[in-house]
Amino acid sequence: MTINHGSLSYLDPVRAEPWASFVEQIDRVAPHLGDLARWVETLKHPKRILVVDVPIIRDDGTIAHYEGYRVQHNLSRGPGKGGVRFHPAVSLNEVMALAGWMTIKNAALGLPFGGAKGGVRIDPRTFSPAELERITRRYTSEIGIVIGPDKDIPAPDVGTSEQTMAWMMDTYSMNVGHTASGVVTGKPIALGGSLGRQEGTGRGVCIAAREAGIRMGVPISGARIVVQGFGNVGGVAARIFRENGARVIALQDAEATLANPAGIDIPAALAHVAAHGSLVGFTGATSVSDDDFWQLECEYFVPAALEGQVTLERARRMRARIIVEGANGPTTPAADDILHERGILVIPDVLANAGGVTVSYFEWVQDFSSFFWSEEEINDRLESIMVKAFDAIWLTAKERKVSIRTAAFIIACQRVLAAREQRGLYP
Ligand code: NAD
Repeated sequence: MTINHGSLSYLDPVRAEPWASFVEQIDRVAPHLGDLARWVETLKHPKRILVVDVPIIRDDGTIAHYEGYRVQHNLSRGPGKGGVRFHPAVSLNEVMALAGWMTIKNAALGLPFGGAKGGVRIDPRTFSPAELERITRRYTSEIGIVIGPDKDIPAPDVGTSEQTMAWMMDTYSMNVGHTASGVVTGKPIALGGSLGRQEGTGRGVCIAAREAGIRMGVPISGARIVVQGFGNVGGVAARIFRENGARVIALQDAEATLANPAGIDIPAALAHVAAHGSLVGFTGATSVSDDDFWQLECEYFVPAALEGQVTLERARRMRARIIVEGANGPTTPAADDILHERGILVIPDVLANAGGVTVSYFEWVQDFSSFFWSEEEINDRLESIMVKAFDAIWLTAKERKVSIRTAAFIIACQRVLAAREQRGLYP
């Protein structure tokens, strides 16, 4: 079997995903790009890839080495922007795909950034806070040659937090000899972080769901919601859905799958996770099988864990009206086709979870101007950027008779490739 890597020899020849999914999404959009299609190969060739060794002395005195990455997928429209993931499954292939989706997301929303992503292959739960600090600082120093407030600006992702960003900001600042708060976003407020950033992604997921619901006649109030992944994205989205009158009937995290048809008390579930680290042992819902979870009848299903979760096989069984992708890359292209055939609307990641990078953009702007906005201003501006992007993407989907994902890719690729063409090829 040939693996569609886009012919990049440095990739593992056996493991194709998720970069292969990204390449396929690009292939699907190419016929819609007119003359700009001649530049489309650009998007299958990440601009810059840095693989770094992250050695630390562990608390027991042994020396350990971890592999880290920073990929700048495309910088045609501005500095790189994208999160840093600490997870045992991080690979070059995964970071490349995540960086590619950041290029598309930033362009689809009209944010003045290119796409980038980083990661270290570790399970952060198996390290002490002191070890995590050493890993973060060494990783930041190693990628210090490519990041910077006007070069590439990391942010939190799976397994990283505002504490991680504080260490990254401090390390970079120490290395350059001055405080550079704009080098990362998702920082604590005391270090130049933005109000509303921590909940920006989940809030954006709910805005995207509401906009889809208005057009499909599926109001949020009274809707049944299923959420996979109960972290920064899924936890906040579940809370805001509930505040808007929806019933969250099932939740899944890495360790537990729970359902309660009457609606789960989300603040209680969040408090349980804050105290115990996972949903295991939460008594406000009953344990269900993974199979049952994916077949629950609901109005909105929010995958907010990892990529590749909505597989072909699951897509055949899902009984949701609308899928709102909180995670990056949760739906494979084959599953996308089945969902389309079955009339299940998918609001894609590059639109649905863009609230996080949008508020990150606000944070970066505030850091540059050293002038900070109120939470109300931030939420109003988030709302207006998300709704404008949603409108344009929805309209393109209707005009071109394509999926919302393809429409978002059309708009984004046109912006990126027009910038590429106008800049011209150096030298
Ligand atoms: P997080 O680490 O805060 O939470 C991840 C959640 O997913 C946890 O509840 C974890 O237990 C659960 N999970 C992990 N593996 C799972 C599995 N196999 N099955 C079920 N649940 C599983 O991460 P996050 O920041 O909420 O990110 C979640 C997704 O959203 C990722 O795809 C990330 O790239 C994407 N995203 C995050 C942001 C952000 O601002 N944090 C922005 C845009 C997109």
